[in-house]
Amino acid sequence: MIIVQNGLNNERGLKTFINMFFKTDEDLSVFSNFDYSNKKINVYTVIYFRNKKYTEDYYLDFDISGKSEKIINKVFKAACANSFVHAAMKINKVNLPWGSMCGIRPAKNVREMSEDGLNGEQIKYMFEKIYEVDPEKTRLAMTVAKNEKDILKRTGKKSVGIYIGIPFCPTRCLYCSFVSTDMKFSAKYMDDFCDKLVLEIKKTAEIIEKLGAYVESIYIGGGTPTALDNENLEKILKGINDFFDLKNLKELSLEAGRADTITEKKLNTAKKYGVTRISINPQTMNDKTLKKVGRDHTSGDVEKWFSEARKIGFKNINMDLIAGLPDESFDDFKYSLDEVLKLNPDDITIHTMCVKRGARLKNTEIEFTESEIMNKMLSYAQGKISETGRVPYYMYRQKNMVGNLENVGYAYPDKMCSYNINIMEERQSIIALGGGGSTKIVTDDNITRIYNYKEPKEYIEKFEDILKRKDEILKLKGAV
Ligand code: SF4
Repeated sequence: MIIVQNGLNNERGLKTFINMFFKTDEDLSVFSNFDYSNKKINVYTVIYFRNKKYTEDYYLDFDISGKSEKIINKVFKAACANSFVHAAMKINKVNLPWGSMCGIRPAKNVREMSEDGLNGEQIKYMFEKIYEVDPEKTRLAMTVAKNEKDILKRTGKKSVGIYIGIPFCPTRCLYCSFVSTDMKFSAKYMDDFCDKLVLEIKKTAEIIEKLGAYVESIYIGGGTPTALDNENLEKILKGINDFFDLKNLKELSLEAGRADTITEKKLNTAKKYGVTRISINPQTMNDKTLKKVGRDHTSGDVEKWFSEARKIGFKNINMDLIAGLPDESFDDFKYSLDEVLKLNPDDITIHTMCVKRGARLKNTEIEFTESEIMNKMLSYAQGKISETGRVPYYMYRQKNMVGNLENVGYAYPDKMCSYNINIMEERQSIIALGGGGSTKIVTDDNITRIYNYKEPKEYIEKFEDILKRKDEILKLKGAV
């Protein structure tokens, strides 16, 4: 692939869109010429593909006077992407509801534009005219930004969030690209992993104390934390209670993702140690699909454990669904959502099917749902869930999402998960522990990432290194 850009170099952004239109091994040349004069942007793009030439002469009225450098830069880059996208659409039709907006956090874009001094109308203009975002998606991003505002305002200046990664699952789902291991092979590491994790909790608590900070939220994810046996789950939860100062804690979330890992004992343990929010994630309520994607539970198990969890006293339960699972039609998705709504969870996350390199699904013949149907699924979910009083409060996009759509969390206003918002908005430092965690320390002008090892075996063997890496946090100027 050859890329030549005159006037403005936006190769990274351009590559994102090239990957959406063309296969990686396709022979392709892209040339673009950027010019700004008389309050007009002009980007002329030429794509040479299979001995044919495709062009776009793109113009955009834009007055840079009074605009911040950040905004000018964003607009110039969007113009380059638009010009390429218009030319590429003459070759392949690709669903781009988010237009030329790159990046995984559309609501963060809204917030940043607002902090740069743009009002609602100007932000809408930026989304729809500059980035060519679909009006429905613009409304969604602006609504999420509005709904998360209060939680962001209440996020303490000296607060941190804690993420604890438990990389065990009973089997590996067909689409999985998370940090997780099949317990058929990894269960032998569980005890050792959990013992070390308690030491990491202790170490992290000491660091937080030295920073003069406090823990505001804890999220135990994975993997599937409830894949741990009850003793190990208790060990971790006890470690949290023993070592972290929890007097300012607002929420303690536990993913009990798969119904085949939940037991009454584990739910009671979670309750005993102060878990305030759990996730029971069906992904679909169609048993045929559950089997196809490799989950050893039925929709009936999901219903059973949901009502058990309510009986035990969990007042904030999240459920995840995935739109676009293999061979699911719009009606299948609609059925799942309608069934989930009957259970009345407090928080529902609608994910868009996403197939990353590590997923087993990548190597199958399974066809992905057409973009048009994906759009219909997501629009249905948005309309239907909003009717129930739940509001969209966090969202993110990923690479390789079917239809280039998004994941959205909807909750009743008093049940929004502050951890989810803060991780998306990158305003609060998140210290990650366990397998595959990625610590993000937010300082005034930077975000520093420190990675943990992923697999249980690696985590155990390189544990000393993990503890040393934790000390790096103390060296960061302005950390927390
Ligand atoms: S439950 Fe989640 S983390 Fe575990 S294998 Fe399935 S998709 Fe991966």
